[in-house]
Amino acid sequence: MSLLLLEDDPAIADTVVFALQREGFTVEHRAWLAEARERLRETPAPELLILDIGLPDGHGLDLCRELRAGPLKALPVIVLSARSEEMDRVLGLELGADDYLAKPFSPRELVARVRALLRRAQAAPAVAAGFVVDGARVRLDGVLLNLTKLELGLLLKLLQAPQRIHSREVLLDAVWGTSADSGDRTVDTHIKTLRAKLREAAPTRDPIKTHRGMGYSLEP
Ligand code: CA
Repeated sequence: MSLLLLEDDPAIADTVVFALQREGFTVEHRAWLAEARERLRETPAPELLILDIGLPDGHGLDLCRELRAGPLKALPVIVLSARSEEMDRVLGLELGADDYLAKPFSPRELVARVRALLRRAQAAPAVAAGFVVDGARVRLDGVLLNLTKLELGLLLKLLQAPQRIHSREVLLDAVWGTSADSGDRTVDTHIKTLRAKLREAAPTRDPIKTHRGMGYSLEP
């Protein structure tokens, strides 16, 4: 199990490498964005990336965005940040990070996050339980859903990566496009009607999870 750590602070890097190696992981360490980009072009690719935000030659989240647009779009990424501000967290998740840890963190916490993320990534193809998609027709537990175009758009976007938290901005962009002059409320309103229809089809379940202040995901 080979992990790539991009971190320019030698003390943090040493601690992280030590903690992960002790748990049996192989860790490659790079301190510069350019070095990490180079490594990520080589094969075999690492199985997970631990990414610092503030780097000597740029912003770690730029790499995150690049990865999500390329062949490594499914590579699990944990972002490390010196700033614990909500904005960073939201921005990180929006740019495609899978998890986020604010410094200072305990090495044990990081190891736990790494394990959890690898488990999620290795679980059979991420399909949300009970959903079957056939073009524009979606069934939940066998019941054909009667959705509006916008509800369908939201659901399909969520189904692409069910366990990822989709921020309202990401959903707006995906479903309404850049021309939309609608706000977060628009997303919430349509999620609400979508949720009601899902509940009608599967009364015992509520597959859409709300993450306060962050966005929505689907139950695995
Ligand atoms: Ca740094």
